[in-house]
Amino acid sequence: MNILVINCGSSSLKYQLLDTETKQPSAKGLVERIGMPGSVLTHRKAGGEKEIITAEITNHTIAIKLVLDALVNPEYGVVKDLKEIEAVGHRVVHGGEKFAQSVLIDDEVIKAIEECVELAPLHNPPNIAGIEACKDLMPGVPQVAVFDTAFHQTMPPEAFIYGLPYELYEQYKIRKYGFHGTSHKYVSQRAAALLGRPLEDLKLISCHLGNGSSITAIDGGKSVETSMGFTPLEGLMMGTRSGDLDPAIVSYIMQKEDLTSKRVNDFLNKKCGVLGVSGVSSDFRDIEGAAEEGNYRAQLALNVFAHDVKKYIGSYAAVLNGADAIIFTAGLGENSATMRESIAGNLSYLGVEIDPEKNKIRGQEIDISTEDARCRVLVIPTNEELMIAMDTYEVVKG
Ligand code: AMP
Repeated sequence: MNILVINCGSSSLKYQLLDTETKQPSAKGLVERIGMPGSVLTHRKAGGEKEIITAEITNHTIAIKLVLDALVNPEYGVVKDLKEIEAVGHRVVHGGEKFAQSVLIDDEVIKAIEECVELAPLHNPPNIAGIEACKDLMPGVPQVAVFDTAFHQTMPPEAFIYGLPYELYEQYKIRKYGFHGTSHKYVSQRAAALLGRPLEDLKLISCHLGNGSSITAIDGGKSVETSMGFTPLEGLMMGTRSGDLDPAIVSYIMQKEDLTSKRVNDFLNKKCGVLGVSGVSSDFRDIEGAAEEGNYRAQLALNVFAHDVKKYIGSYAAVLNGADAIIFTAGLGENSATMRESIAGNLSYLGVEIDPEKNKIRGQEIDISTEDARCRVLVIPTNEELMIAMDTYEVVKG
């Protein structure tokens, strides 16, 4: 089945046309600067050249119209007719407590996604705009919403309730939701395939380490604990996000720096994390480079990050009562052998032992453990688009 996967941001839109049989994209691209001067679509057919299409793209409907035109373009398109696109899968950031799995979109689902706007004011509105645009431009084509939060809806109350009055959960839905669910779900399924064991029998700790980072404890294929919380700010220190803090620090900074709640929120999301500690960059490649040249703060940022990850792995091993495998995925997790080494280098109490030669291999699914390590360490490139396409396929096929 040919499935168009759409990921709408406020001013950008990423897409892939995926074949669920070959599991490969036939085309992919990115629309940037939607609603701004200089908007542009970059489209690439598999094995083809990059096509840069500039146009005035004032909203998401125009962006999706351009994407559809590119997909049927006689020169660089990949389908003859839009009818060959059998379904659309939309990434939706927040499904609140309403959605524990992917769903076929109808008016009621759109209303429920709108109700979650309060929980994800920056993300859900563009997701809805993408859905509405596809509804207009591809009438009758089934559309499926795949939520970042859905995979974590299996967490038990003891994992998702904060130490706040219970009324705040009842009134404002303040609880841990967790994010990156599509990625954690995908890599856990691939881990079972790689280990040749049923997912139902496995205790996994999935480390999605990228610009945004989160760790999830997965028991028998179900998320039982995750590091991101009410918003994606909680948990590990990230590229620009602070991660876990003593909550008293927030009001202290507001007072000291005379910040409003909006500005302190922006600050904690955009100016902190490894960027703030290193003072170099939010990009781990730059930080690793600076650390190699002897930059103290860059090395400190890497050390704090690795320490954070180790702490979470330990606590999730406690939650799971052991772990069969630890998974590394996303930009940093997939590519940085040194970061994996500093995290997994002293987890021998869990039965972790990595093979330094295997740890150097990149770009493929691999078990980097030594032969007889009790807890396996897997590197699995994530593929959220494929997971969205496969979920869409399952929902459409019923
Ligand atoms: P993502 O959010 O998954 O795209 O991951 C982006 C992060 O991965 C950035 O901080 C990159 O610096 C980091 N990254 C990508 N490739 C490498 C690499 N070869 N070594 C270290 N970090 C990398």
